[in-house]
Amino acid sequence: MAGVYLQLLVIQTTHLHAFRYSVANQWRDKMKKITCAELGGACDLSIFAESFEEAAKQSQEHAMQMFKQEDKAHLAAAEKMKTMMSSPVKMDNWMTERRNYFNNLISER
Ligand SMILES: [Zn+2]
Repeated sequence: MAGVYLQLLVIQTTHLHAFRYSVANQWRDKMKKITCAELGGACDLSIFAESFEEAAKQSQEHAMQMFKQEDKAHLAAAEKMKTMMSSPVKMDNWMTERRNYFNNLISER
């Protein structure tokens, strides 16, 4: 009897793992990966987000952290962005281009 019980336990555990795995995959399926540098930053930190807005928000939060640490590369990248932002047309084009880039990314698997 102990053998049957053990077998059942193994089956149950396997199912649980499969379930957890599929849930994790569902979550990952919607997520896209973009890097800090691809969003106008300076490093290859991966940002996982469902939407461009969410990715932009995360990259801004990350940039803030880097500014606090006075990271030269990120400060230089911000300077570049600032120059671009002085032109609304350029900024608009950049945002549209980056949004399209993000939307065309294939979700992480
Ligand atoms: Zn960065």
